Amino acid sequence: MNTEHPSQKTLPANILWDEDGQPISAEFDDVYFSRQSGLAETRYVFLQHNQLQTRWQQLDTHQQFIIAETGFGTGLNFLCAWQQWLEACKPTQSLSFISVEKYPLTKNDLEKALKLWPELDPLCEQLLAQYPSFFTEGMHRFYFAHGNVQLTLLIGDALEQLPHLAQQRRQAALNNWAIDAWFLDGFAPAKNPKMWQPELFSTMACLSKPGTTFSTFTAAGIVKRGLQAAGFSIEKVQGFGHKRDMLIGHLTSNPSIAKTIPWWHPPQPNGYALNKKSNDSTNTTLNKEAIIIGAGLAGASAAFSLAQRGWHVKVLDQHSGPAQAASGNRQGMLYAKLSPHQTPLSQLILAGYQYTTRLLPQLLPPETHQGKSWDNCGLIQLAFNEQEAKRQAALISSQLFPEQLFEYQTTEQLTERAGSNIQYPGLWWPSSGWVWPQALCQAMLAHPNITTHYQQQVTSLERHEQHWQVNTSDRYWQSAHVIIAAGHTCQSLLPDVELPMKAIRGQVSQLPYQGLSPKTVVCGDGYISPMVDNVLHVGATFTHDNDANTCSSQDRRENIQRLSQLMPELYELAKNTLESDSLNNDKVGFRCSSPDYLPIVGPIPDQIPFIEHYAPLRQNGNTTFTTPPPYLPGLWITAAHGSRGLITAPLAGEILASYLAGEPIPLTTEVLQATHPCRFLIRGLKRRQV
Ligand SMILES: Cc1cc2nc3c(=O)[nH]c(=O)nc-3n(C[C@H](O)[C@H](O)[C@H](O)COP(=O)(O)OP(=O)(O)OC[C@H]3O[C@@H](n4cnc5c(N)ncnc54)[C@H](O)[C@@H]3O)c2cc1C
Repeated sequence: MNTEHPSQKTLPANILWDEDGQPISAEFDDVYFSRQSGLAETRYVFLQHNQLQTRWQQLDTHQQFIIAETGFGTGLNFLCAWQQWLEACKPTQSLSFISVEKYPLTKNDLEKALKLWPELDPLCEQLLAQYPSFFTEGMHRFYFAHGNVQLTLLIGDALEQLPHLAQQRRQAALNNWAIDAWFLDGFAPAKNPKMWQPELFSTMACLSKPGTTFSTFTAAGIVKRGLQAAGFSIEKVQGFGHKRDMLIGHLTSNPSIAKTIPWWHPPQPNGYALNKKSNDSTNTTLNKEAIIIGAGLAGASAAFSLAQRGWHVKVLDQHSGPAQAASGNRQGMLYAKLSPHQTPLSQLILAGYQYTTRLLPQLLPPETHQGKSWDNCGLIQLAFNEQEAKRQAALISSQLFPEQLFEYQTTEQLTERAGSNIQYPGLWWPSSGWVWPQALCQAMLAHPNITTHYQQQVTSLERHEQHWQVNTSDRYWQSAHVIIAAGHTCQSLLPDVELPMKAIRGQVSQLPYQGLSPKTVVCGDGYISPMVDNVLHVGATFTHDNDANTCSSQDRRENIQRLSQLMPELYELAKNTLESDSLNNDKVGFRCSSPDYLPIVGPIPDQIPFIEHYAPLRQNGNTTFTTPPPYLPGLWITAAHGSRGLITAPLAGEILASYLAGEPIPLTTEVLQATHPCRFLIRGLKRRQV
């Protein structure tokens, strides 16, 4: 068992049901809610005593309101807040609900518990439709009500999870977002003393701003003193039902922050609006319009995440439709290569895999798309050589990951799964499978807030006083926010910034064939997927320093050879047909990769001032700074998704949209630093290579 890294496994809540059908936590020996009055209690304690009705009526047209909660439990508080939000707010406003839960209910228990509240049925159904069958530790984001209601579940201990968000806020010098209201729920202090600690209250303060309110059902002295010490005012008011008192209050002053500003400090969300040189600092309303260059997985994902937040997005692409370059394969695999060392890459892959698999059924409903646009038919990762066998053995023995995610299976078991002879043991990923990237891009780009403009090759970007001008050969567009998602050609649009990206050529072979089809995706040194439209897809070659975009017969032979390793029986049956078929069906694409194999997602540095600013790092790598890094205002990138764009690009869209909208980002700061576009310059300065 791995003791060095935190486990990704979570224990589901152990629920006992009393004779009234009311759930009771076996861990805490306490009820989740009262069956007679659960709804009324939530409304009284949390909604009424945070004055949500009144505060929501005073929101600006496009404002977001953030609630944070300790103890998601059955989701009752979330559902009640969501219900009231729908009655009170405009579709242009949004609710972000962040909730931390150490022992998430299983889907079955959640369904049973929520049956007690028929008046919440329409919302319960939507929550249940997205609620996963298992959780890993960390942040998980969900959208409801056309994106107007955002739920971020932090799975794990409140004292470990909330500090990740607090770190994001500190690194932005508290200038980004803040919680507006706290629902201090969770089991009573006497039953759950480990949560109600001074660290919880000080973290709450760091996540809040002056005026942020809280309410809690308890009036316990430890809670009162803790909140007071953290800077909250405290008032005792009449408790609900038979409870005598409860506590309410608000943060009275700004939490203290360190004076140093890290190099990954995010820019102000307003981009140009706050960077403009004029002295008019009053016009800081967020301009919610953006241009995205590139309609592949990266661009479509960023467009979708912004559109969900009410942004209006123009997507430009040089091709005649979406997903015609690297994202143009008929079948892409959801291949999640995890590490037992919990590296930032592994954290990103785990979060991205879960995000994409949640997104697929929403965007491409299984009733019409299963087997055509995607299929969660399961995926096999073969232990096809010594190195891969070692990685898999280390993953299994680390016991870090829940077995619902993947499990070790023997050669015989995998043969049964694949429906044809398999030569190696390996890992079985039951919820994984393949996706048609173009269908996913089309579904994302169909959002009504997105307009697409094809056959528009962007030739240059011009920086103006208040906006960027995006030039094509015969016209131009302007916006304060531009996202570059142009795959391996991003660098050509950024002549003054060095982002170390390289193109890696890949050829996929499409093999028309009418016989045996694999029942699952099989990955080894390449992959084969279940047949679609009587075509087998086998891939892919991996060639550096080769920019030929015509298909090569050598590559096709390599792919057919791959098939012999992946599924020898199928290879024997099909080889004559495959070898005689023409090259016309193959497809070449270029992956875009970075030197550390992590994607590049975030704000783009203004290179010369950036290097000058951080020049002291050449002498002392530990130098600290007190002013923010120089960025190119309003210019962003999502690229270098390597061989796993289906897993990283949708989540990267969410990262970018959260940066631009000035919201909590559903990842740790470790991952945000590891994917930050400025990391290469900082490394270069520390190594005195820049
Ligand atoms: C052979 C191969 C097999 C792969 N297999 C898998 C797999 O199984 N699973 C997986 O997850 N990933 C796989 N990948 C990787 C995945 O396809 C990529 O990570 C992903 O497609 C990258 O998306 P993107 O949007 O960044 O780039 P692209 O899809 O290349 O999109 C960039 C877009 O920008 C446009 N553009 C570029 N320059 C300009 C300009 N100047 N003006 C206007 N438009 C411009 C292009 O036309 C293009 O549409 C594979 C890649 C290849 C090549």
